[in-house]
Amino acid sequence: MTDVTRYATLLDRELPSILGMAERTVNIDSGSYLPDGVNAVISIWADMLRGMGFEVQRTPLPGHGDQMTARLAPGGNGKRLLVLGHADTVWPSGIAAEWPFARDGNRLTGPGIGDMKTNVAMALHALRMLQAEGALAGLASVTVLVVPEEEIGSPLSRAWIEAEARQADLCLTLEPCRPDGGLVVGRGAVGAVYLSATGVTAHCGAAREKGASAVAALAALVPALDALGDPANGLSATVGIFRGGDARQVVPGRAELHLDLRAPDDAAASRLLAEVHALVAASRHDPRVTLALRGGFTRPAFPTHSGTEALFARAASFAAALGVPAYPVVSRGGSDGSFAARLGVPTLDGLGPVTHETCSRREWIEADSIVPRAAILAGLVAAAAAGD
Ligand SMILES: [Zn+2]
Repeated sequence: MTDVTRYATLLDRELPSILGMAERTVNIDSGSYLPDGVNAVISIWADMLRGMGFEVQRTPLPGHGDQMTARLAPGGNGKRLLVLGHADTVWPSGIAAEWPFARDGNRLTGPGIGDMKTNVAMALHALRMLQAEGALAGLASVTVLVVPEEEIGSPLSRAWIEAEARQADLCLTLEPCRPDGGLVVGRGAVGAVYLSATGVTAHCGAAREKGASAVAALAALVPALDALGDPANGLSATVGIFRGGDARQVVPGRAELHLDLRAPDDAAASRLLAEVHALVAASRHDPRVTLALRGGFTRPAFPTHSGTEALFARAASFAAALGVPAYPVVSRGGSDGSFAARLGVPTLDGLGPVTHETCSRREWIEADSIVPRAAILAGLVAAAAAGD
């Protein structure tokens, strides 16, 4: 019987250390395109993992930080555990100076506080506590991955994450817990499509007829692309970026748009992407303008299967024992957990602290959620180690 109440008591003693690690890492700028900051955050976590006996490997990614793989063989011949985290945030350079880690009563704020600096600190302390208790011993392996470009969809890390997931019996993902205790048991597919147009520049006054507008060609597609969605069925297409032209008095020779796609499952995702291609192919624009379409679905759907349902049921029983809420959420956002879940690996996500307004300048976490959420995570690991 996994005693999560005892784990909560032990982790409560670790809270100052968890908060200290959260503060140090939140105060480092670590946007997806800031390799130095991402690597500085990873170094803080890697030091702790090495201290616990993990073997740590780092693989640099061009333009991003390192992929960190930390492995421990606790000596058992039971399950192989995969823990997924990331070191990057959605924020630009300079953010930590203007918005540093801060505490106001139960509210902790700062860039990446809940997505996911505190989350990794919680998980590492939970693993260290379990190790000290001898509660990891049944596991064949514990692998912690820290991804450097999760916030842009992990385009360079997908194959690495999938290779590790194929070696795992369960996957615990450290994305934020939803307000009121939502744990993620499924996710939709997420796509990123880039459409660019190349036209012919000309002076608007002297030689208007020689020009072919790239902006006009793409602009005509925007309402049609936005209308491809079917929100009632979880499908959406949204032009999030549109830009073009170089000067007011020049017929624009270039334009581009970035299209976000969401779909509830992989089949619907394929159909939606085919509709995008068909719409672009049928575009009636000046024949001197050429269009180029690239991208597609970067995150597969995370189906809710029985292994995930079993993990959720266990987490919910731990939450009840701790007197905190838990309910299952199917999210329209993607995460690295989607890669593991799609391969059939039992995957539970949303195991971080209770987080509000994720990825906004108002992001904050509930300080008093850290210990019980870390205890739930510890309980899941201990149960897996015990062969449950
Ligand atoms: Zn995240």
